[in-house]
Amino acid sequence: MNSYYLWTIGCQMNTADSERLGAAFDQLGLQAVEKATDADVIVLNSCVVRQGAEDKVASNLAWMAPLKKQQPERIVALMGCMVGPNSDDLARRFPYVDVFMRPQQFEPLLEMVGGRLGVDWEGCVGPLTPTRPDVSCHVPIIHGCDLMCTFCIIPYRRGRQVSRPVEEVAEEVEILASRGVKEVTLLGQTVDAYGHDLPENPGLAGLFARLNDIDGIERIRFLTSHPKFMTQDIIQAVADLPKVCEHINLPVQAGDDQVLDQMRRHYHRADYIELVGRIRETVPGVAINTDIIVGFPGETEEQFQQTLDLLSELRLDKVHCAAYSTRPGTIASRTMDDGLSEDEKTSRRQRVDRLQEEVQTEINARLVGTYQEILVEGRQRGKWQGRTRSHKLVFFEDEACYLGQLVTVKIERSSPWSLQGTLAVEAKLVNPRGKN
Ligand code: SF4
Repeated sequence: MNSYYLWTIGCQMNTADSERLGAAFDQLGLQAVEKATDADVIVLNSCVVRQGAEDKVASNLAWMAPLKKQQPERIVALMGCMVGPNSDDLARRFPYVDVFMRPQQFEPLLEMVGGRLGVDWEGCVGPLTPTRPDVSCHVPIIHGCDLMCTFCIIPYRRGRQVSRPVEEVAEEVEILASRGVKEVTLLGQTVDAYGHDLPENPGLAGLFARLNDIDGIERIRFLTSHPKFMTQDIIQAVADLPKVCEHINLPVQAGDDQVLDQMRRHYHRADYIELVGRIRETVPGVAINTDIIVGFPGETEEQFQQTLDLLSELRLDKVHCAAYSTRPGTIASRTMDDGLSEDEKTSRRQRVDRLQEEVQTEINARLVGTYQEILVEGRQRGKWQGRTRSHKLVFFEDEACYLGQLVTVKIERSSPWSLQGTLAVEAKLVNPRGKN
């Protein structure tokens, strides 16, 4: 039992879970390998938020059967949102899978691996902080979700909202800083609800203040926020704290009040418009991203047009648009008729994407000629790549090594998806909002 292979699909929370399980394997002395065929332990970390993701997991699971047959002592585990409270059905469909684990419930697998190694895993495994983190690392701060959006399966799989204590998160971020991490992205399904369940209710703003003081960390990001929990304290902290980036992911999902009610989103169109206006007023230069679902059960053409009009009016920085698909077990799957054709849903998604391409063309073109602070995250096709504080992707060419550094880049060209620039010899404008 020497090696492990982790395959992950889905949201950043899944990526963070996999990194933490990998840290446990590292502490047990297992080596990460690139191919499942080379591994003694294979873990598939699953997602069921969209049908496409679930199909990919099922197809990879099918591929595990011959691998298990070739090497029966190999451990195969399925983790993540595909595993519900009862895994009997999965066990019937995939009898060669040894362990089924709900999100973050690593214990059954660690117990099995520890048993094979002949060690007490609890004695060997300390804090699950990623061992070889990238420059930018995800840190889960709140697990689960207390809301019950009618289209969403996550509360049924990840359970009720539970925040990690401030000092536990701070200790993890300190370790990450000591391992070279420059940027942390604080994660939660409703990250702005952070702390409401803790004894002194520190809130996300309180956590920001604590993390802002950690040496070595240059940037703090957070996602995903829910409009219901976005308090003025949080917005003000984004404005005031130098390390907290001016970038907020704030899913609206739809622009029509009746659809929002049917989704049980707890706000209306006017509330969202007011909130975006207040964020922009408080945090100059802020980038706001959103998520949209088109083709929700019963969404009429007029209601869809409300979504398009909202996006046209607000001109947000980025829109992630998905076509509705029924998720078994959700309220919508039990009570609503998914009557729209797939062609109509695709057409609506394409109309959102076309509008947003125009908006992003305009927004990014305005950055040409400006100087932007970039955190360099890696190289792609011979160029360095990094992100602005507002999370825009920037490329520049240079022979020297800039990995993990904050540099200033003059933006020369733009497209809807990225920016191209040149390294500025002198920093003209390191922090566009002058928070330093
Ligand atoms: S807020 Fe809604 S969409 Fe987000 S995880 Fe909770 S139930 Fe799902």
